[in-house]
Amino acid sequence: MNKINVVIWNEFRHEKTKEKARALYPNGLHATIKGYLDKNEDMEITLAALDDPDQGLSDERLQNTDVLVWWGHMAHDEVDSVLVKKIRDRVWEGKMGFIALHSAHMARPFCAIVGTEGVLSCGRNQKEIMWTLMPSHEISAGIPDHFLIEEEELYAEPFHIPEPDELVFGAWFEDGHILRAGAGFRRGAGKIFYFQPGHETCPSFHNPYVLRVIENAIRWVRPCEQVSPVKNACTWMHQPIVEEFKST
Ligand code: ZN
Repeated sequence: MNKINVVIWNEFRHEKTKEKARALYPNGLHATIKGYLDKNEDMEITLAALDDPDQGLSDERLQNTDVLVWWGHMAHDEVDSVLVKKIRDRVWEGKMGFIALHSAHMARPFCAIVGTEGVLSCGRNQKEIMWTLMPSHEISAGIPDHFLIEEEELYAEPFHIPEPDELVFGAWFEDGHILRAGAGFRRGAGKIFYFQPGHETCPSFHNPYVLRVIENAIRWVRPCEQVSPVKNACTWMHQPIVEEFKST
């Protein structure tokens, strides 16, 4: 069985500077997510961080990554432009899936892949109810029709993303705001999923439903066997196909 090679990339700065974040995620929120995912025998989970050599993603490592999970917030601008393009191209070519968590709505790779700035409205931490909008979707497997998140940062519409290809979850917040909180996109031959929970001072990455959504999303965005476009097809490819059909 070929394992899904998953890299969980974390900016990993807040956990070193904010006491509350460190208390919730002593080894980084990426390590907490890995701790949940490691039970999956079909997944090989490794961690990467912004301050690692090559920002955690050397060419060789990127080429061996099937699914890249991304959490960033305070240092989006530090992510190398060349690396951003490599990530975008790998997703567009269908070689890697991409999952953007929480404040990665404005991460440079996410914006480059889906094609907008990813800006949304935000506010104080509060109760959130996550509603499952597509109960038959692979990403909502094992998730009830709704679940409560005791404390999350308010993220609200308007949310400047392209129209999602698959809107799996919608969020309602205590003060009445709503958000397209779990959104799937297809770009080129690749798949992308954005999921909103995960503020660094909230325990959302200890919530079993939040973790299950990430687990399901890894399987949904993973690359699959595909037919690749052929360049200059009009000049040399169509005629043999016509001949093939004539002979049947
Ligand atoms: Zn946040």
